[in-house]
Amino acid sequence: MTTESALDTALSQLRRAVEQLQLSENEWQTLSTPRRVLEVAVPLRRDNDHVEMYKGFRVQYSTTRGPSKGGVRFHPDIDMDETIALAMLMTWKCALTNLPYGGAKGGIAVDPSTLSLTENERLTRRYTSEILPIIGPERDIPAPDVGTDEKNMAWMMDTYSVNAGFSVPGVVTGKPIVLGGSLGRTSATGDGVAISTREALIARDINPIGATVAIQGFGKVGYWAAVALENMGLRVVAVSDVRGGVTGFSSIHDLWSHFLAEGNINAPGTDRLTNEELLHLDVDVLIPAALADSITEKTAVGIKAKIVVEGANAPTTPEGDAILNDKGILVVPDILANSGGVIVSYFEWVQDKQNYFWNAGEVRENLNAIMMKAFKEVETTSNESRVTWREASHMIGVGRVAEAHRLRGLYP
Ligand code: NAD
Repeated sequence: MTTESALDTALSQLRRAVEQLQLSENEWQTLSTPRRVLEVAVPLRRDNDHVEMYKGFRVQYSTTRGPSKGGVRFHPDIDMDETIALAMLMTWKCALTNLPYGGAKGGIAVDPSTLSLTENERLTRRYTSEILPIIGPERDIPAPDVGTDEKNMAWMMDTYSVNAGFSVPGVVTGKPIVLGGSLGRTSATGDGVAISTREALIARDINPIGATVAIQGFGKVGYWAAVALENMGLRVVAVSDVRGGVTGFSSIHDLWSHFLAEGNINAPGTDRLTNEELLHLDVDVLIPAALADSITEKTAVGIKAKIVVEGANAPTTPEGDAILNDKGILVVPDILANSGGVIVSYFEWVQDKQNYFWNAGEVRENLNAIMMKAFKEVETTSNESRVTWREASHMIGVGRVAEAHRLRGLYP
């Protein structure tokens, strides 16, 4: 996996949408340039008193349709190019689902598994303090991503609030409920992936009940998608994490209980699979829900699933995508399939602004309504313009941002 390719992929998808929408060269220039990029040094005093320096990033790709919004990733491989690519994808995702946001992304080049809890807290707080001048509920609202979760969001919210002198829950989303988090946020991305899977199966005339699914990645997205899919009556037959995969488990619930007890997914009675074997299983749906670039020229050839639902961001390279399309495999693209997370983050931000909190049913209903609307728009555009679902999703998202630029005009 190269980090450059995530940006190359994002730019080539944008170029295609610009051509399909017949936008001008001026519009391409505007749309292909991030508005604000910030790299910061994040010093950390380790528990043994040594000081180490880490690189931190925050990219506000677009603020044209509202404050920028996007996750904070702790991963040793992230760099500025990948952060720009992911912030660009957030921009089209928020526009596709018609949320009043631009797009952002950030993170620290660190492996969080090497940090103690107190080191993680100090690193998170110092990073927050370094990017503090450019974030805020009206400017840019971070959220969890790979390697971060609600505890990091609590520390970010506290650091921002201490500096403001009062409590500012709306500065981040994905917070614990007691700090102004939303019901349903933890499972939201996985819930949205499950809604996408169900709708894609229906679009292909396959009964979702009993349909088989393999999921690469058993983290926040993969796990919650698996739970929601089982609740909808689908059969999750294989999952994997960074150490490999398993098949032959009785239920996700049982596998999770084993994972919590033992810290691995090798439950008794299951059969081991390599990550490549999981990608090539004969299932109805394959859900890549780990990192970027897992479906490539090399791995796409052996994929037998009828539908690929992209839980992860940018899991398919352009070459891999071309192969899937040639094979007639329907791909539900990341900016549609995994938009459930940012949709419920939006609900959290709205609830924080109003100091009025919704019940779980309201969150679920509104998530379903927004996703179904985006889904229908993508399906219609795909049919009318004879383009793939990925192209249709980008046409809608990019088109909305371009229109907002046109209407706002160029200052001065
Ligand atoms: P996470 O850190 O909770 O989980 C990642 C999972 O992927 C872990 O199980 C890890 O072991 C596994 N993994 C890593 N490398 C792997 C490999 N080579 N093969 C198989 N498994 C591997 O992260 P997450 O929040 O679940 O995010 C996963 C993806 O979904 C990322 O691309 C992220 O950007 C995207 N995403 C996350 C959210 C969210 O709300 N968390 C929202 C939208 C998109």
